[in-house]
Amino acid sequence: MNSKLNIRDLDYQQLVKELENLTKEKFRAKQVYEWLWYKSVVDFEEMSNLPNTLRKLLDNKFYIDFLEIIFKQESKDKTIKFLFQSIDKHKFEGVLIPSQNRITACISTQVACPLNCSFCATGKLGFKRNLSSGEIFEQIFKLNKLSEQIFNKKLSNIVIMGMGEPLLNYENVLKAIEHIMDKQSLFFSPQRITLSTAGIVEGIKKMADDNLKIHLSISLHSADDKKRSLIMPINKKYNLDSLKKAILYYYQKTKKRITYEYLLLGGLNDSLEDAKKLTEFTKISPCKINLIEYNHSSDSLFKASSKKNTEDFINFIENKNLIVTLRKSKGQDINAACGQLANKNENFNN
Ligand code: SF4
Repeated sequence: MNSKLNIRDLDYQQLVKELENLTKEKFRAKQVYEWLWYKSVVDFEEMSNLPNTLRKLLDNKFYIDFLEIIFKQESKDKTIKFLFQSIDKHKFEGVLIPSQNRITACISTQVACPLNCSFCATGKLGFKRNLSSGEIFEQIFKLNKLSEQIFNKKLSNIVIMGMGEPLLNYENVLKAIEHIMDKQSLFFSPQRITLSTAGIVEGIKKMADDNLKIHLSISLHSADDKKRSLIMPINKKYNLDSLKKAILYYYQKTKKRITYEYLLLGGLNDSLEDAKKLTEFTKISPCKINLIEYNHSSDSLFKASSKKNTEDFINFIENKNLIVTLRKSKGQDINAACGQLANKNENFNN
């Protein structure tokens, strides 16, 4: 496989050129493209409308970056976590989250994560590599199929909030999303896709410039520079002021409402002073604030916010006429909740 090229790294024009070198039949590139991106086949042998000779030629020159599911865990609340394994034996997780009538897929974009947020299990794994666009696409394609098999429903939403920082893998994430939105593929509406970032300023501006129609969510977790740097080292590179400017730029260009994710950590970021800073930070544009309950475990450094602090925090924000929701983390018992991916999973040995 090493000397072979990943065929899903090619765009359509590149594929046409490669196919021209292998066959005189011009229409073959379109057929191969359809197999790869509409039917998501992972073996050239399955491309049944290609002649055998061409299938062999393709197999000699290229490989398809397919994924295997090597482990599955189901929570009491029906959330299901899947452990994917790539060809080069790296592992990462994707989660199916049923809620009312919707099935949401939470997907990964990197093998582990370089940002090392102190409340997050993924950050502790040690970053390995970006996922390719083919792997991100394949992950969503597979989760959609599993959703149909298990819940009798296609995916309703995709949140790019699993392992990794998506804006550090911008091109591959973008390519995968484009394929997912293609009407010949899953025909997924951009309105039902949310990308969550820890605050990569250039990436947020690029999303605005590229006029992506998907939703943007910011993992904020504190609106105080000192505290944010303590729990999210990326804040030392992109402080709150630079993040605010990027968000403003994004809003001015797209006019889209931003969502903020805020993990309530007892005694750290859950005081009324923290709530005040949060409302001041977020007033720059229309927004929605998702507060998330922290999943405390025996070895965690942090604790969950008390009931009283949580209620006071919510009341303070509501009194400022901001939209706020308290999200109960799903899949806690299988470590599929926010910040838990890869936590205590003995199968995880990248
Ligand atoms: S919270 Fe997100 S950005 Fe931070 S380490 Fe975990 S996966 Fe990376």
